Amino acid sequence: MVTLRNFVGSYFDSNRLTTNDYSWKPKDQLPQSAGEYPKEEGEQLSDTTTVTNYSRNFPMLLHDGGDDPMDTIRCVACQICERECPPQCIYIEKAYDENGKYIKSPAKFDIDVSVCMSCQICVEVCPFDAIVMNSQFELSTPDRFGGLLLRRDDLLKSNDYYHQIHPEEAAARDQKMADEKAAKEAKKKAAAEAAKKKAEEKAKAEAEAKALEEAGEKGKEEDSGKEEAS
Ligand code: SF4
Ligand code: SF4
Repeated sequence: MVTLRNFVGSYFDSNRLTTNDYSWKPKDQLPQSAGEYPKEEGEQLSDTTTVTNYSRNFPMLLHDGGDDPMDTIRCVACQICERECPPQCIYIEKAYDENGKYIKSPAKFDIDVSVCMSCQICVEVCPFDAIVMNSQFELSTPDRFGGLLLRRDDLLKSNDYYHQIHPEEAAARDQKMADEKAAKEAKKKAAAEAAKKKAEEKAKAEAEAKALEEAGEKGKEEDSGKEEAS
């Protein structure tokens, strides 16, 4: 009945012609007629065009701020996500410096979102918390090939943006990373202390051995002195 009412009504009321989702808009900014969408030029590709905290669409690559996102990009181009992606829609090339040394960042990182099935497996397997799901959903484009191949620079988003769209998840991930870093530092400190203790014990044992050796030599000298006197 709803469909029939809408179908018939669409001949009389233009608002019934389209079905758009405006749930991401504040109530006072809802369009008053179908012709108002998108409200502003470029709005459909805005970074803040999201649905809810818990929605996910396609992956994005995180960086930790700064003038050049490539200085703080978390991805080290280990290619685990590329191998694990079920439809194989990730393509990565490692970056090398002028001496041919691998510099732990991606020279290329492409995701073909026309193939991506938003499964989030890439996020789960990443050991560096470098790839997470974006909730930006307005990606429609008339270019069905190049327009849906997201390049590294299209995928780069700041951790602040991540906090903006998924506050709880981003805070939990930050906490996990801080805990892991603290555990790593504690382990390193414990290893350094153990090495120091071992070195001290070794030095002590060597000093004791040397003292014993010296005492032995002194005893021998005394004995030979006695023998000469007698
Ligand atoms: S979300 Fe799934 S399909 Fe999309 S890139 Fe990640 S692993 Fe591949
Ligand atoms: S996103 Fe993560 S798993 Fe994928 S290449 Fe980068 S560091 Fe490796």
